Amino acid sequence: MTDSQRPVRVRFAPSPTGKLHLGSARTAIYNWAFARAQNGTFVLRIEDTDPERSTQENVDIILRAMNWMGLTWDEGPEVGGPYGPYFQTQRTATYEEALALLIEHDAAYPCFCSKETLDAKRAQAEKEEGGYAGYDRTCRDLSADEVAARLAANEPHTWRLKVPLDHGPVRFTDAVYGEMEFPIDVMDDMILQRTDGTFTYNFAVVCDDVNMAITHVIRGDDHLSNTPRQVLIYEALGAEVPLFAHLPMILGEDGHKLSKRHGATSVEQFRDEGYLSDALLNFLALLGWSLDGETTIIPPAELCEVFSLERINKKHSVFDPKKLDWMNGVYLRELPVQEWVEAAKPWLAEASVRGANVADGLSYLDEEGASQDTPLPLAEADETWSAAYEEALAAIDEDRELFSEIYPLIIERLNRLDEIPAKIEYLFWGPNIVLDPKSVKKVLLKEGARADEALQACLEVLERDDLPWEAAILEEECRNLAEPLDMKLKNLLQPLRVAVCGNMVSPPLFESIALMDPEDVYTRIRLVQDEVFGTDTPEA
Ligand code: GLU
Repeated sequence: MTDSQRPVRVRFAPSPTGKLHLGSARTAIYNWAFARAQNGTFVLRIEDTDPERSTQENVDIILRAMNWMGLTWDEGPEVGGPYGPYFQTQRTATYEEALALLIEHDAAYPCFCSKETLDAKRAQAEKEEGGYAGYDRTCRDLSADEVAARLAANEPHTWRLKVPLDHGPVRFTDAVYGEMEFPIDVMDDMILQRTDGTFTYNFAVVCDDVNMAITHVIRGDDHLSNTPRQVLIYEALGAEVPLFAHLPMILGEDGHKLSKRHGATSVEQFRDEGYLSDALLNFLALLGWSLDGETTIIPPAELCEVFSLERINKKHSVFDPKKLDWMNGVYLRELPVQEWVEAAKPWLAEASVRGANVADGLSYLDEEGASQDTPLPLAEADETWSAAYEEALAAIDEDRELFSEIYPLIIERLNRLDEIPAKIEYLFWGPNIVLDPKSVKKVLLKEGARADEALQACLEVLERDDLPWEAAILEEECRNLAEPLDMKLKNLLQPLRVAVCGNMVSPPLFESIALMDPEDVYTRIRLVQDEVFGTDTPEA
């Protein structure tokens, strides 16, 4: 795609002024995947020149997020490399050198205009027809003697690029937007070095890309308007202009730029919400790039083989959280059981710390799904959910097999890791139960459904000594009740589901029952019978 025969070197150049946001993460992914696909080098460069907003904490967050996503860099912080240092604040000497070169070639000149003068001129021009067209080049043609004298007198000055007036349009190739052309007369003599000695973004970034032998600049299209200016700097430095690829924005479903309003926006937030890094990476890769317009599952390793700049979309892309959830579910189901169990651990641990009150015996969820003390005598609300989670956590290490058996019960309907605790906690409630009031109303108290009868009949089946505690057998025996009781299967089995699992949307019922202690199951059913039907069923 480029005439250059240079080995492919790309860079991701975040400014550590915040977390790693989705847009930047996608830029990182494209650079990384392109480098891998081309057997090139992926450089990470930290553009920390904004002293007010750049922090070490943000650097750490960015590196952590990239490591979590598996976006390993070949050169950069922590790993070093032959073109370092990889922090812009440590590269000032190279900018000084580049500026000296421009001065030597009469491609840069000092400007002594004060900020006040420039501001006043701009304000005046904005009032006039045609508006402000950039710096009026007052200092461009000062005589050599005057320049020498004013510099010798240490008069405050900036250094500006001497844009060649006979240049013709500025042209460059963009892998996404095609051949680009900008008229030269809108390019003003931009500042390269400020009065305080610091260098501007446009200058520093070009110096770095030149000195780091970058061949392809892949970045957000918010930088597109900077590019013609940067091309002029490359030319002034006598350096080869890289091939550019400006990435269209990622928008929210409402057509607005992604922001907090749209939910999570940083990579770490997605990690904390239970997404797998490979799924997030796959999802982001497809926000603006496609393999063939159809394939949706492209794991990172494959992306590294098939990624190409040609298939980056010109149109902005839309962030669809439902698609991400779906994709995460696909990746979750691909995880080997043991890895899944490991991945579940921190979520259970977190849930156990978070905790919530659960009554001893029976309690209810409130509208939001948190458990609530009930006014019933059974409910002595001094236990916590934590107990259930702690037990689950202990079970992971003590009884891996149990978790392998839980896995198929929930994996089909699981989209995110953070859903695991809520989906499995009922298995660890022991002789207690937490009831969902909606399920009580809709199932147990359903008019004419004879839920009390159904529940009692199922309990009697479960209590039979002659039946092994196995899902298929218990299920068959319970189903057989439908005919003699003249009851629809749904009316027969839903009450049992609510009485054992607490709600009507739990994972497969009999498989769950088979994983639980029979005595706990009986106790739960009786608690519900007493509470909801007020029946004092005789002990079996
Ligand atoms: N540091 C710039 C940013 O974070 C990127 C500059 C570039 O890629 O050229 O937006």
